[in-house]
Amino acid sequence: MDKCSFCGREKKETNLLVAGMSAHICDRCIEQAFEIVKEELQKKGDFDVSKIKLSKPVEIKKFLDQYVIGQEEAKRYLAVAVYNHYKRLMQTSHKDEEEVEIEKSNIILVGETGTGKTLLARTIAKMLHVPFTIVDATVLTEAGYVGEDIESILTRLLQVADYNTEAAEKGIVFIDEIDKIARKGDNPSITRDVSGEGVQQGLLKLLEGSVVNVPPQGGRKHPDQKMIPVNTKNILFICGGAFDGIERKIGNRLNTQVVGYSASREKDRIDRENLLQYIAPQDLKSFGLIPEIIGRLPVLTYLNPLDRDALRRILTEPKNAIIKQYEKLFKMDNVKLSFEKEVFEFIVDKAIEFKLGARGLRSICEAIMIDVMFDIPSTDEKTVKITLEYAKEKLAKTNIQRLKAA
Ligand code: ADP
Repeated sequence: MDKCSFCGREKKETNLLVAGMSAHICDRCIEQAFEIVKEELQKKGDFDVSKIKLSKPVEIKKFLDQYVIGQEEAKRYLAVAVYNHYKRLMQTSHKDEEEVEIEKSNIILVGETGTGKTLLARTIAKMLHVPFTIVDATVLTEAGYVGEDIESILTRLLQVADYNTEAAEKGIVFIDEIDKIARKGDNPSITRDVSGEGVQQGLLKLLEGSVVNVPPQGGRKHPDQKMIPVNTKNILFICGGAFDGIERKIGNRLNTQVVGYSASREKDRIDRENLLQYIAPQDLKSFGLIPEIIGRLPVLTYLNPLDRDALRRILTEPKNAIIKQYEKLFKMDNVKLSFEKEVFEFIVDKAIEFKLGARGLRSICEAIMIDVMFDIPSTDEKTVKITLEYAKEKLAKTNIQRLKAA
């Protein structure tokens, strides 16, 4: 009796049974297999480098502009670094022996928390269609200590690439809070520095490009886990950190650097309000990053603190601005949501007053919007206007400590 070799159904239970050399397959199994093939091919296509359109730096920056407010300098640096990274990927995919090998330009972004470092990295990844992951440097420790092994950074990348090693090897990793693995103090310490210099040494191996054995499930390595070798040569690392207090180091350097008459004029031009714009690799060294790591992060740029105007723009201008999101949510219930202009100013004032930064904008909006979002879907209202009075009333009821914690 002929049977489907996959599901075991007999011929009469199927619409069609296709015979092969030594097996049969029924129509249902063919359909299922076809779906699997389609899905797999699509997954591969998501991360197919050969399909990447080479965007020029100006276009990359334009793309970033849609999502990130301000941060002109960081955007320009990122755009160029990414453009060159694209080119590297292209070069490695059609290899030519004669060619000059373009070196990888990993990036380090320095700026206060909540100024858009992660957002920039995330937006870049969205544009590139390559696997992207964010890891927090604070959880990393030297092998053998409590915490996660350095290789676990790549586990995440493998996971988002669905264990497609080839795709992961062309991905982008954003390492957040890189400043937290700085050596404590400028001198190499004699005592063990489990989460500092040791981690930097480990990280070096990933940054410079080598084949690393990655535990597929992450966490700690254990002997019976089968490792996946991943080559980090083409992985772009973007590091971010607040480097609290680095302004002092920059200031000191600028003060000692400028001596003499001509230099003193130069000194006058220094904008003391925003020293970060003068950041140089040696400041990272003074902060406690080892020179080898700094050498592997050749693109160094900074983010500006967000001023009032920037916060105001963040609220409504980006492609997925918070206010646009609320409007969309209401629209899905066929409700037209609008705001009195003063409400936006009020939200920004509060974010500044409570030192909540850009992250605070969302929690303030939530506090204002929660009640209407709860009630409106069950009413017949077709329009909602949030007035200043209403916003003030709702926020007055909110515990500011809770907003700060959010
Ligand atoms: P960090 O610098 O700490 O990585 P994030 O990028 O995570 O900060 O920013 C936190 C949130 O604040 C973002 O998700 C975004 O909503 C908002 N935000 C911060 N900076 C900007 C900016 N320059 N433009 C638009 N939104 C921003």
